[in-house]
Amino acid sequence: MEALKQKIREEGIVLSDQVLKVDAFLNHQIDPALMQQIGHEFAERFRGQGITKIVTIEASGIAPAVMAGLELGIPVIFARKFQSLTLKSDLLISKVFSFTKQTESTIAISARHLSSTDHVLVIDDFLANGHAAKALIDLIQQAGASVAGIGIVIEKSFQDGRALLEREGYRVESLARVRSLADGQVHFLD
Ligand code: 5GP
Repeated sequence: MEALKQKIREEGIVLSDQVLKVDAFLNHQIDPALMQQIGHEFAERFRGQGITKIVTIEASGIAPAVMAGLELGIPVIFARKFQSLTLKSDLLISKVFSFTKQTESTIAISARHLSSTDHVLVIDDFLANGHAAKALIDLIQQAGASVAGIGIVIEKSFQDGRALLEREGYRVESLARVRSLADGQVHFLD
């Protein structure tokens, strides 16, 4: 998606050869017009597949997920993050290792919002090693729902997330694919 790549080139900050900061338009300040385009692009890629809900994770997945939900006309559920959580019957719970914080946290969705008849699109801001996406898939499977695919705003293709998810048979659609963050520069795959 060219507009997204252009924005990353102009406003992305390479923090290290592993981490890209996009606080100017996605992770802190949000560019609504760009988010709308992102939502449109996800909808184009996943339309017509019987998707009933979008699942994302707070906080940075919410903006692109809501825009995609608006385009597809379906609800968006965001998993909440907790330091720890005691088991409750109405909660679907999973664990996720955070790439940016390097700590494990617990994520949860109320069981009321997902059922076995749902066909779910997972959306997140970044794909690194695939831990967040896998934890969201785990929640969806606990509800007995099916996964339509995974939509990612920025994929770091030099990390293992895509390979892990594709190995398990999931379709991954990323709007910008970063091949490398070497020399303080963002190099795209295509
Ligand atoms: P994964 O779970 O795939 O290893 O990492 C994806 C999650 O970590 C995303 O939800 C995102 O919040 C965060 N993340 C991973 N890499 C980056 C990065 O380079 N920049 C930012 N801002 N977040 C990242």
